[in-house]
Amino acid sequence: MFDFLLDHTFLYVAMLVVFVFAIFASINVQTTFSKYNKVQSSRGITASAVARQILDSNGLYDVQVTMIPGNLTDNYNPRTNTVSLSQSVYNSTSVGAIGVAAHEVGHAIQYATNYGAIKLRMAILPVAQIGSYAWMILFILGIFFQLPALRTAGIVLFAAIVLFQLITLPVEINASRRALSTIKSQGILYGAEYTGAKKTLTAAAMTYVASLATALIQLLRLISMTSRRD
Ligand SMILES: [Zn+2]
Repeated sequence: MFDFLLDHTFLYVAMLVVFVFAIFASINVQTTFSKYNKVQSSRGITASAVARQILDSNGLYDVQVTMIPGNLTDNYNPRTNTVSLSQSVYNSTSVGAIGVAAHEVGHAIQYATNYGAIKLRMAILPVAQIGSYAWMILFILGIFFQLPALRTAGIVLFAAIVLFQLITLPVEINASRRALSTIKSQGILYGAEYTGAKKTLTAAAMTYVASLATALIQLLRLISMTSRRD
């Protein structure tokens, strides 16, 4: 019934579509962010101050907010319990930067409140990390030495990466949802300012959809390659 998924033509068309979508998503997040990083919020509060405010209002006084180099390198690290904001975000009073900062704080709140999906994501992380380089070695060795078990092990590891990205998606969407509702409820951004932050976070979410779609097609390709050989 789902044989078409492994069909040559279907896979090539799907690869092309996903490839174009991934390029679009990547360009879109850059242009959307640079657009809304020029729109200043009327309250004139910096993104790092917004991060501090939301953290404190959730009782997360122990979470640090620091500045890191790069563009769109913003993240929350649960090991160091730190929200790191990029140079273009940290001191910015733009609606785009505030959106990004609130999103990263959203991850800190997810950890603090033991949000289920993020715990599952952390549990799969080590397997996905090993899989990210080991899957190809196993898969190629399996083909080279004609060992189907090795090939299958490579595919299973790659499937773990796909699973990791699948769980990443709700985690990211949830962090953005938390960010936007807080931005609204705490009166940090108003009207068109809020819409700008929302567009920035939606563009970011699309890159995660693109990564997942790319990995999913790659998984189908690996399965179709082996099923044709058997
Ligand atoms: Zn995120």
